[in-house]
Amino acid sequence: MTTPSIVRTSTAELYDAHVLKNYARAPLTLVRGRGARVWDDAGNAYLDFTSGIAVSALGHCHPHWVAAVQRQAAELIHVSNLFRNPQQGELARRIVSFAGPGRVFFCNSGAEANEALIKLARLHGVQKAGGVEGKCYKIICAKNAFHGRTYGGMSATPQEKIQKGFRPLVPGFAFGELNHLQSFADLVDADTAAIFVETIQGEGGINACTPEFLRGLRQLCDQHNLLLLLDEVQCGIGRTGRFYAYEHAGIVPDAIGMAKGLGGGFPIGSMWVRDRFAELFHPGNHGTTFGGTPLACAAALAVLDVIEREGLLEKVRALSAPWHDALRQLAKDFPQHVSGVRGLGFLVGVQLTGDPAPYLAGLRERGLLAPSAGGNVIRLLPPLNATADELAQAVRIFRELLAAKS
Ligand SMILES: *Cc1c(COP(=O)(O)O)cnc(C)c1O
Repeated sequence: MTTPSIVRTSTAELYDAHVLKNYARAPLTLVRGRGARVWDDAGNAYLDFTSGIAVSALGHCHPHWVAAVQRQAAELIHVSNLFRNPQQGELARRIVSFAGPGRVFFCNSGAEANEALIKLARLHGVQKAGGVEGKCYKIICAKNAFHGRTYGGMSATPQEKIQKGFRPLVPGFAFGELNHLQSFADLVDADTAAIFVETIQGEGGINACTPEFLRGLRQLCDQHNLLLLLDEVQCGIGRTGRFYAYEHAGIVPDAIGMAKGLGGGFPIGSMWVRDRFAELFHPGNHGTTFGGTPLACAAALAVLDVIEREGLLEKVRALSAPWHDALRQLAKDFPQHVSGVRGLGFLVGVQLTGDPAPYLAGLRERGLLAPSAGGNVIRLLPPLNATADELAQAVRIFRELLAAKS
């Protein structure tokens, strides 16, 4: 019999030795979470306004979510899409109740949801071209966009740091200027199948489509028989105080990609397709082994339950106005560091005058975790159930840091 050797290797050493170096990680090992707080392996507590990058919509380990996942894990976890399961049917019904008449496909991530949107655009283009493939396949996206790391998502993401080293990309993507309708209109030709944008750009630095721009895109799509595809992976599922961020503009898209907050920490993605385009998919032309498992759907149903029961959309709307005001005051008091604050609800970008890295480290040392975004922005992504006190605490920590740097 062999006795297992006792190895005392720190997590940092294990990462250094064995984990792929595709992330510049903060020097922090997190071991526990409750609500808007997480603890590291040294016992330090942090206010977590990263929320797993807009994923932990209910904060960490919400009791209703934990109970639902535990119950489902003990009942049935995975059966594949060769069979029905009750949780997937119910979750599809709930998503249709938010988005409108249509159908829902389930996958496991934002990139996969967007991949489904891109494939939908191709199918629509083939139909538009009378069944001929390879003619009508172009998709117009926005400069500064982020749609994920698959070949489709990456090809829709016109950023050198993301595309470099991976060319040739998927052909057919063109890029207009966000909130400049004419720049999109100028790119439309007979080969265009769809327009595809984030309702609010997240990774790009919290840049929202204006309601007028979204309405203009809707009209443009109607005029030219293009699909309007919205990436709500980061801005959807209540983050802006509406279930979907596009609701602020009063439009209806033709398909929506969602993920991140939907599972509240459990990996799940989804595409909703408007009724009239849902039949473009048929048995055999798209699929996934893991998508829509009973466990993933139970986790997402628990998120939707809590959003409804705890009135989180209303709470986000009510708490965000005073919180944004308090953050804007930072820009007024420390213009040498903060040049602006933008965003909607609990999807906020603090525009810094320089590199966010030292600021992120300073916030972390003072007990606040937040991610950066493109263009020298710090994102603040509290869980949807963050309290007024927690929001105020984040502002206090930010203020202390800026005061110390001034
Ligand atoms: C995070 C994100 C994605 C990619 O989602 P993954 O789950 O990482 O594949 C796509 N689009 C947007 C807007 C995102 O924020």
